[in-house]
Amino acid sequence: MGSTHPLPVPARRDALRLAIGGALLLAGCGPSAGPGTEGKAPASAATSGAVPPKLQVVATFTILADLVANVGGDRVEVQPLVGPDSDAHVFSPTPAAARAIAGASLVVVNGLGFEGWIDKLIAASGYRGTVVVASEGVDVLKATPHGHAHGHDHGDVDPHAWQSLANARRYVQNIATALAAADPAHADGYHTRAAAYDARLQALDERARARFAAIPAAERRVIVGHDAFGYFARAYAIDFHSPRGFSTNSEASARDVARLVRQIRTQRIRAVFVENISDPRLVEQLARESGARIGGTLFSDALSAKDQRALTYLDLMGHNVEEVARALSPAGAVN
Ligand SMILES: [Zn+2]
Repeated sequence: MGSTHPLPVPARRDALRLAIGGALLLAGCGPSAGPGTEGKAPASAATSGAVPPKLQVVATFTILADLVANVGGDRVEVQPLVGPDSDAHVFSPTPAAARAIAGASLVVVNGLGFEGWIDKLIAASGYRGTVVVASEGVDVLKATPHGHAHGHDHGDVDPHAWQSLANARRYVQNIATALAAADPAHADGYHTRAAAYDARLQALDERARARFAAIPAAERRVIVGHDAFGYFARAYAIDFHSPRGFSTNSEASARDVARLVRQIRTQRIRAVFVENISDPRLVEQLARESGARIGGTLFSDALSAKDQRALTYLDLMGHNVEEVARALSPAGAVN
């Protein structure tokens, strides 16, 4: 296979490639059902005719894949390496992942140390095309004063930049630039879709600001399983506390758990959440020991395939905003 010539791809090989990628896509990932691609037939059914081949994009995880799908529209076929409800921190690359990268015209990664496994995987795949770092240019967040007593392997940069809608707008801009460069004939379409999607991100950001502005600053304290919400916290002036570091990989010490239990009690923190990607037991233990009630699920590092509330990035952020705001609002509190 002439993998050094990713474009143009003959339609027949395109179909083969889809068959390879099918296993990943069948996991029910949301991207092709994203809001920018509504009414579109499933991608695998749409490529058999004389239509020009689509740009084959691999994104490292579902949130990125959804952003790519919204900007790419029907010009792009995107597959995530780490599927819905899965944890990219602890992903073990598979031969199928290497094959997907080898067949890609473009690879989109988050960067900021989020995908600790990606460089090795790209090298193993033989891929020599462009690697787009979607987070390039965002205002990077360093470790907060809270927590992280024990180290993890990502240094002190928080990789979860997509948890800020303002940052996601930058991601979208970077993705549009990269798609336009890879497929200049359709550059206008990429920029038009990016602008339309950007307006939706901005509208949600403004709605979130208004929602949280109505909650007294002293009430804005939340407990979650791992430090995935630093950017969300900064955007809306909310204090997130977590027994673990930026990666789900790190262990919570008994001391950190005890400290959080005390904090939940003394500060009467009502908003305690589990996450879709990680084991809920640690947060359940915190809730049990502190007497707090679990407020619900927040979506941190992945879209959900089975939970309708986070099929797309916009749904995910809208849900997180609503869930946190409700838990923090005195009127919404159950206890
Ligand atoms: Zn994470």
